[in-house]
Amino acid sequence: MKRVLAVFAVVVVAVLGVMVVRTMRVAPPPPATTAAAVPATPIDTAAAAEHLAGALRFATVSLASGGPIDTAAFLGLHAYLQQSYPRVHATLKRELVNGLSLLYTWVGTDSTLPPAVIMGHLDVVPVPAPNLAEWTHAPFSGDIAEGFIWGRGALDDKSTVLASLEAVEALIGTGFQPSRTVYLTFGHDEEVGGRYGARLIVQELVGRGVQPAMVLDEGGFMGAGLLPGLSQRAAIVGVAEKGYVSLRLTAAADGGHSSMPTERTAVGALSRAVARLEATPFPYSLDGPTLSMIEAMAPYMPFGQRLMVANLWLTRPIVMQGLRANPLGAAIMHTTTAPTMLTAGIKDNVLPPEAQAVVNFRIRPGETVQSVRERVTQVVNDPGVTVALLDSVGVDPSPVSGTSTPAWALLGRTIRAMAPGEQPPVIPYLVMGGTDAKFWGPHSDKVYRFLPIPLGDGDRGRVHGVNERVAIADLATSVDFFARLLRGLDTLQEPTT
Ligand SMILES: [Zn+2]
Repeated sequence: MKRVLAVFAVVVVAVLGVMVVRTMRVAPPPPATTAAAVPATPIDTAAAAEHLAGALRFATVSLASGGPIDTAAFLGLHAYLQQSYPRVHATLKRELVNGLSLLYTWVGTDSTLPPAVIMGHLDVVPVPAPNLAEWTHAPFSGDIAEGFIWGRGALDDKSTVLASLEAVEALIGTGFQPSRTVYLTFGHDEEVGGRYGARLIVQELVGRGVQPAMVLDEGGFMGAGLLPGLSQRAAIVGVAEKGYVSLRLTAAADGGHSSMPTERTAVGALSRAVARLEATPFPYSLDGPTLSMIEAMAPYMPFGQRLMVANLWLTRPIVMQGLRANPLGAAIMHTTTAPTMLTAGIKDNVLPPEAQAVVNFRIRPGETVQSVRERVTQVVNDPGVTVALLDSVGVDPSPVSGTSTPAWALLGRTIRAMAPGEQPPVIPYLVMGGTDAKFWGPHSDKVYRFLPIPLGDGDRGRVHGVNERVAIADLATSVDFFARLLRGLDTLQEPTT
């Protein structure tokens, strides 16, 4: 017995030793040397602030996909951009796509280099009337006050549109011309799915044979406390986007009078189907972009958490259990199931012949719209309940863009330059919502998602919330980011194949 205990103790000590050694090996990367100094581009911060403020005064609101559009607001914004950025409009080719989206082409000096694409969107979400009183500056005022530019779109996403144009305007002023062609693409309906804007822009570029060296769209942020377990300021950059599909479940049964109900009712059958779906979640797994994210976060975690992540060979089930404990952690590990709509019945004493539910799924990389639909049909397991796409639109998850590519390295350098001396960690992650970048999914695996604005406390809640604003200094940082990125694209080394 004693001998068994002794052997056991040795094994425990050995395992602990291995775990600690593995944990010690997980350290932050050495501070990046200031690689290939990118010359600073002079930026007129006051003018940039005025330009954004003016753009926020156009109420380019997206209400519903395919719904009414205030075309005058969009066309007004187009004209305003032309007037604000004369050099851009004298140098770049500007095209309208579907009348309301913008496609700019900055022709590079070397047509053999694959081009780069910077994406943004011109539309904004509406301001719900009950929230109006909470705005300290009217949502479409474009007020500049207290060091901020205020208004709907200040962060999402007119800051990107304006900051990138500002950077191009400044670069042209210095005589710069990119070596690779750069496309600036600004859709008009991102907030309602991008089907009539970004989708057509991507289709157009793909039709012209464009195979980008890099695509950058909104999606990630820089800020503190963005992810559980990562308290310090960091940048999270989307390397993949979950897919999206809504399925309509329709249960059919005999209608009739409620005084003599049939054994099977539509409402009962539908309820069972929805309950089964909730009770049978899609499988969880810790791999792909979620694993990359956790591994990239590990060096910055407290010792205990780092120990767990550095030893997934042993701790994987515990780590997964911990992640599943909160909705975000669960969502990054599997396809989520969310029943969102129910319809049945017209009167309390009439058995409805049909009951319908809509269930929304956010699909993790590795699964598809088709595989989700097949699994749902199988789990519902009732020939009297049909499963159909809600509106013929489903989006497969994007491919996962690499983190050992030249484009990722350039992005990391450019992001770190936003906070000189601080070396904020740059963490890849899986975007849970949808961005216009999803339309590049089938065509490119060099798509990254990041909004280059250093967010302050509570700023993330202002996106789509009340009192959306951007600090003038942070807008300047964003312009500098785009200027560095555009210059840096010249140094982007494609692996020679
Ligand atoms: Zn947006």
